[in-house]
Parts: sequence; C-alpha cells; structure tokens
Amino acid sequence: MSASTWIKLNAKALYLMQGGTNEFIEKVDLVPKLELLAGATVATPIAGKFSLNIPARWFKRSDAPGQMAINLTDTSEPSAFKPPTTLSATTSSTFKTIEAPSGEEFDFIDSRSAGTSDPRLADFQPNEVLNDGTLLPRYYFKVNEFKDFSKKLTTNFTLLEFISDTEIARGITFPYYIPVAIIRLADSMQKLRDRFNEPIRVSSGYRSPFYPDYQNNPSFKSAHRFGTAIDFVSVGDRIIDSQADLNFVDDKVFDGSFSGASNRPSGVSSLGFEFSESAAEMGFDIHHSHLDMGYITQDKELAHVNAFLV
Ligand SMILES: [Zn+2]
Repeated sequence: MSASTWIKLNAKALYLMQGGTNEFIEKVDLVPKLELLAGATVATPIAGKFSLNIPARWFKRSDAPGQMAINLTDTSEPSAFKPPTTLSATTSSTFKTIEAPSGEEFDFIDSRSAGTSDPRLADFQPNEVLNDGTLLPRYYFKVNEFKDFSKKLTTNFTLLEFISDTEIARGITFPYYIPVAIIRLADSMQKLRDRFNEPIRVSSGYRSPFYPDYQNNPSFKSAHRFGTAIDFVSVGDRIIDSQADLNFVDDKVFDGSFSGASNRPSGVSSLGFEFSESAAEMGFDIHHSHLDMGYITQDKELAHVNAFLV
C-alpha cells in the first residue's frame, strides 16, 4: 500500500500530490472568472475569483487524498512526481517493419533501441510515466509525410481515420510516430465492419501528446494515448446517440454476450476489445461509441501486434 495522496491549492492550480512528498501527480489550473466592465469590449478577470473542475477520479484512487493544504498567496509550482520505473532490461527488438492487413508496410521503431536517434521521437513521450505509473508505449511506426495518412491499413480503413482529427486540424509536423497497437486496432475495426456489413464513421483513434487535453494535463491516462482506443459516431445510417445504439454496438463487439450491466470490463470479444464506455461514463451525453483494448504497453506491445511484425 502506498501512502495517501494529498491536495494542494495555491494561487495557480489545484494539485494532486504524492503522499510524503512536495511533488504533484496531476494538476488542474485555476481559471479566472471574467466580468465585462461597463464600456469594455473584452472581459477582464475578477481579482481573487476562480473556477475549478476537481477530477472525480482523484477520489476513486486506492490512495485517495486524505488532506488538503491551501495557500492562496503561493504562486510557485511544485515539481512533478516521477515514480521509480521497475522495468527490467528488455532485449532490443530485431523487427524492422510492421505490415498492416492491407499489405502496407511501415518502419518499425523501438524507442529504447540505441540506434533510435530522431529527437522528434521524444516529442511523442515514449515510455513516459502517466498518473498511475503506467508507461506510454515503447514501439512505434513512422509516418514521413501527410500523404502517407491516406494509405489503407485494411480493406476499408485508412491510417488517417485512426488519428485524432483535433491534431490534424491543428496541423501536424513530420515525422509523426504512431504506437504499433493501431495496426491491430485497425484489423479489429475491419472485422467489426465486416460483422455489421456497413461503413463505420470513426471520429478519434490515437491521441499523441500534442492533443490539447494532454498539453494541459501531460500525465492523464487514456487508452487513446496507447493506440488501443477508437471512437465512432455512426454505423451505416445509424447515428450513435442513445443507450439502444450503444447496446446495438456492444452486442456485435462482445459476441452477443454483452450484459449491459457494466461496461468495464464489458465481456468477451473475439475482436480483441476489452472495454466500451458506458452512458454514465459519458455523463449520459451519448455521442459516440468508445471501444478499447486496454493499456497495452512495453513488453505486451509486441505480443499484441505479433501477427503483423515482419
Ligand atoms: Zn474514446
């Protein structure tokens, strides 16, 4: 058992702090409340008034915070907590290529290999520690230019469909690196499409550290960061916006055995999915179906994509 975390509030942010340290695990910046003064066209911050969203997940941890310290005149930022890594020395991979089900091949990159020298790769934060100690992926494939995103991964899905459109809208710099798990995710999505025999409109897949939410909260854990999660908004003409639509998808994904009682974990899926997001997790504002394969990282990554390594 680890010691309880604690909460620190100062003039800049609310911090979830590692127990027994002055280091933070996660933080939420204070957002100044604004007012529009008479005659002004731009709102100005009201001195001393802030709004704040406290993440509920902080209180669901096994080491949920037990104490809170408040100092509203303190404007300093505590340093980030780095859990000790317990990785044993892993042998460097000898794979050079990962081949998508379409036959398209991509350069396979082991971020821990001594031969990996592209400083750009570091921007994707391979092996970085997230808020619960899970490491981001180790193995990636490389995309050299925008037109490579139009390559097909499977019969019906292009690589582009598996990249967060928020990132694409903000512009992408190359080379771009994608966790190898995306190849298996695409394969599973193709099999799901074949079960439906209808087009599936994907809205989000891999989200890199450039994704705005992670720029604000770099250690936030989401399966989208591992290349194992997908969101889609429609199947054929059916727009996913109700519990009935989630059930319709889950029944196909989880081989008709989905109970509907709890979506995490959701049951057995011969497609390799482990979870679907429930209506409750979406705050009962249903606008897509989220499926994921869990937080597959480090030594498990190679087993995950074993069928596609050359
Ligand atoms: Zn999602």
